[in-house]
Amino acid sequence: MNNKELFEKSLKYVPGGVHSPVRSFKGLHTTPRFVNRGLGAKIWDEEGKEFIDFCMSFGPLIHGHQDPEIKEAIIKALERGWTFGACEKYSLELAEYIVNKISFIEQIRFMNSGTEAVMTAVRLARGITGRSKIIKFNGCYHGHLDSMLIKAGSGLAGTAEASSKGVTERQAGDTLICELGDLEEVKRVFEDHKEQIAAIFIEPLPANNGLLVQEDSFLKGLRELCDKNCALLVFDEVISGFRVGFGGMAEKTGIYPDLVTYGKIIGGGMPVGAVAGPKKFMECLAPLGPVYQAGTLSGNPVAMAAGLVNCKKLTTQAYEKLEEHSKNIVTIMNDWMNKNGFEDYQTLRYGSLFWPISSHGKLTNITQLPKNMNERFYKLFEIMLNKGIYLAPNAYEVGFVSLAHDQKIQNELKERLWR
Ligand SMILES: *Cc1c(COP(=O)(O)O)cnc(C)c1O
Repeated sequence: MNNKELFEKSLKYVPGGVHSPVRSFKGLHTTPRFVNRGLGAKIWDEEGKEFIDFCMSFGPLIHGHQDPEIKEAIIKALERGWTFGACEKYSLELAEYIVNKISFIEQIRFMNSGTEAVMTAVRLARGITGRSKIIKFNGCYHGHLDSMLIKAGSGLAGTAEASSKGVTERQAGDTLICELGDLEEVKRVFEDHKEQIAAIFIEPLPANNGLLVQEDSFLKGLRELCDKNCALLVFDEVISGFRVGFGGMAEKTGIYPDLVTYGKIIGGGMPVGAVAGPKKFMECLAPLGPVYQAGTLSGNPVAMAAGLVNCKKLTTQAYEKLEEHSKNIVTIMNDWMNKNGFEDYQTLRYGSLFWPISSHGKLTNITQLPKNMNERFYKLFEIMLNKGIYLAPNAYEVGFVSLAHDQKIQNELKERLWR
């Protein structure tokens, strides 16, 4: 069966044909490609067409598809059994490795996804502070838990409106929305809700609504406001953690949160999420503390083994190489776009995250984005796809460079673009 036939069949058995919405290529006027396999920086679809992959499973695969060392660790782990629901040393090894490497955390708890990690962090922040409201920023994505599926109505501070049916008004009312970069607004919201705000949640590198790089001074301002108001600062580093550097944006900026959430890269491509922070906060979790959290498959030994090798391979040299690959790739893309009918585009980059966007302005919050971006993006996406280049399938999603996108792939990219 070809891609189109497979998708038509999927529509029969699965809502929208997909198990996560952005995979559906909605608004892109072409059928989703069914991936048959991946290796290094490449994937092949069910029709045998080869693509250079810049989606990389939306971020986890920092070492590329089927990294041989991670693969070996997975196979070895499988031979011991793949879940115990009991104490085992494999999650301990990963916990020890990460805690020793990241300066501001003392303990970590593993779960199965970024969503679960944020869900736990919300509950933990409320449990620690005894307060119910949280601040979230317009355009930041924190997974699909109810209290985070909220965005502002026209950027009005302190008002909240659910962006999904099924989220109750009461839940929405406890999530206060602010505009990225607007410290004054955050200050006002704290004043309007005195001693009611448990925490500020932010992607310190907002990368789920395009790439909206923030000034360090903004993050620093949030840190100070949290301290002043006895609220927690939570960095959601599910996308930026282990990518912009091992310790994510926190270590990069030197601005430290009270709690941090990880996901994506942490499991080396296996389903893992985590909450981490100082002992005094983390020990509020069950069984020691009153904040409940659990998981049948949490700390899955196969995922832990993959995560450990994955993390050990993230050396300083690895990050240097990743930076070089990313710089080259974005130069190649921009050069091609500028001479081939996409002069309105620029590719923004932060480390190994990049974002092609039809605007030349400075973009730091979502009010500055052009409207209906997919109407322009789908043309770029389709041309790339035909050339054997697989971008993240939505104008608002960033692309990811991996360590497998080496000189050879860069040459191939150039050749495919200009062919
Ligand atoms: C991907 C992402 C999540 C959700 O993680 P899942 O594993 O998809 O549940 C949460 N926060 C951020 C910043 C993310 O990028």
